[in-house]
Amino acid sequence: MTVEETVRQTLAELQVTGEEAVRSAFAEVRSAMEQERQRIIREGARDETERQMIAKTMRDRWLARKQGLLACVDENWLEKAPPELKPVVGRQFNELRRKVIASCEVSGLMSEIPLMEEPAGAAGTTASAARRTAAPGAARVQVTDLTLPGYRRPLGSLHPVTQVQREIEAIFLGLGFTIETGPEIESVYYNFDALNIPESHPSRDDWDTLYIDSQTLLRTHTSPVQIRAMRKHGAPLYIIIPGRCYRRDNPDSTHSPIFHQIEGLAVDTHITFADLKGTLDFFARKFFGEKTRTSFHPSFFPFTEPSGEVAIGCRFCEGKGCRICKQSGWIEVMGCGIVHPDVLRHGGIDPLRYTGWAFGLGVERYAMMKYDINDIQLFLQSDMRFLEQF
Ligand SMILES: [Zn+2]
Repeated sequence: MTVEETVRQTLAELQVTGEEAVRSAFAEVRSAMEQERQRIIREGARDETERQMIAKTMRDRWLARKQGLLACVDENWLEKAPPELKPVVGRQFNELRRKVIASCEVSGLMSEIPLMEEPAGAAGTTASAARRTAAPGAARVQVTDLTLPGYRRPLGSLHPVTQVQREIEAIFLGLGFTIETGPEIESVYYNFDALNIPESHPSRDDWDTLYIDSQTLLRTHTSPVQIRAMRKHGAPLYIIIPGRCYRRDNPDSTHSPIFHQIEGLAVDTHITFADLKGTLDFFARKFFGEKTRTSFHPSFFPFTEPSGEVAIGCRFCEGKGCRICKQSGWIEVMGCGIVHPDVLRHGGIDPLRYTGWAFGLGVERYAMMKYDINDIQLFLQSDMRFLEQF
């Protein structure tokens, strides 16, 4: 009886009734598998493709989920074993499975199956097949061609958002800032109250924020880390805060419920808006190129006073006006401002002695500008055709 026929019957049908008989039935299956394996190694393969095909066939024959020989043993022997034999059949089955998995793994098999040299002038398949059946194991030379390329394991690369994040971090690290991080699951206090965002502010709405319960949420910005860092380190403080943030936004080409921000915070004595402008202007020139012009416009954020928005001269039209800059010649790239005294107070810092500035930017937006990407969703789709370009 072949091994296929054996494993398609139950132990009862095979008249295996005692523990000793169970062990020898499993031993037969193991030895059939081992013989098959030795046979394909002995016979070798003509080329890489055939070698791979042989290895895969062996693996599928034994390990296919449906109708694989191991699956048949599971179904016919283990599941249908009488209760008194279950423990021994179970142990034997586990042992067999370990052995089959170890022996029929494709890359392992492929490394053992030798490539055979064609006899000079032979027209290939027929001669080689004839020789194979005629004299197994004989008159065959195993060659290893050292000039063949090895198995190529593709190297991964950093996600474009991570690349841009690191690039921005490097600029600020060079200015003496340090990196600070904080939890993505945040309390309402740190995310809103401590940042001077009152209960009535629209960003606290259920429709804008992903709440876990009434006091806990997925942070909507990296700003809570400002408070945490001020409390931890006190002043003076020069930090940037990269991290993932969440908002209840419907995904479209410019919105995503998950996105990355980088915030900066500088707290020291005698910090003025001029320090903020100088630093961000330096950053913009480092990131977007030395010729980049920056422009500061007044804006409003609850946690800074005064607040501003930074725009850079449009790189696509060089300020003449185009579709991307909406004909204005400028593209907004971040929000910034002088830290509100109440925020310093929440951070445990005396606003009469210290002042500070802060900024926040969206990393995806920078990556989109840098690489001219028109859809933010591409960052999250894990499409290799997209990711391989970076
Ligand atoms: Zn433009």
